[in-house]
Amino acid sequence: MRTAGRMVAEVLQLLREKVQPGVTTFELDQLAEKQCIKWKAKPAFKGYGGFPFTICASPNDRVVHGFPDREPLQSGDILSIDFGLIIDSFYGDSAITVPVGKIDSKTEQLLMVTNDSLHCGIAAAVTGGHLSDISNAVQIRAEKSGFSVVREFVGHGIGRRLHEDPQIPNYGVAGVGPKLKEGMTIAIEPMVNAGLSGVKVLEDGWTAVTVDGKRSAHFEHTIAITENGPEILTRL
Ligand code: MG
Ligand code: MG
Repeated sequence: MRTAGRMVAEVLQLLREKVQPGVTTFELDQLAEKQCIKWKAKPAFKGYGGFPFTICASPNDRVVHGFPDREPLQSGDILSIDFGLIIDSFYGDSAITVPVGKIDSKTEQLLMVTNDSLHCGIAAAVTGGHLSDISNAVQIRAEKSGFSVVREFVGHGIGRRLHEDPQIPNYGVAGVGPKLKEGMTIAIEPMVNAGLSGVKVLEDGWTAVTVDGKRSAHFEHTIAITENGPEILTRL
């Protein structure tokens, strides 16, 4: 899973460097797919439940599961990129939200807080703790800054399958649910909205958007719970 995680991180880094005004998410999708082919890795999302692309590309008020398209990105946009792959029977899954050109300070804060809430969740992923400690840590951090967490989509166990038990919501009270044990591998993925927490899915059956049209950010890491604490697998 370290190998898979490392590859996912490298692809996201490659895409991050490409993001700028004028670039399309379709181009980013092709780049990610090409890299998978080069490494003989298989994109995790393409074909998953019928999802047609290698990356999920969700700009601005899109929350998750957006389709890459040929609409050029504009300065001031933000873009969430979710990407996963499978190599040697194991999955890696990670997401980042990146600024396009220059973004306003409120949006900058949304990105910072969402990433921070992910790392608060990761810090709570220690042996002897409970699953909901992660959920609670994410929620507390996001709401402390006046943002709201999405309820409809969750983090998950990951390993030989992309989505395994347990589900990991981004909200809840601490101290309940299964005990965290050494060797567990999970994907923690807060989706944080600038406005209301509500989301709806568009007619394509996939793209989730905020109900109030305000912006949303998404950060995700695949991690392993070890005796030395949480180890982030999808980090360079
Ligand atoms: Mg993901
Ligand atoms: Mg995931």
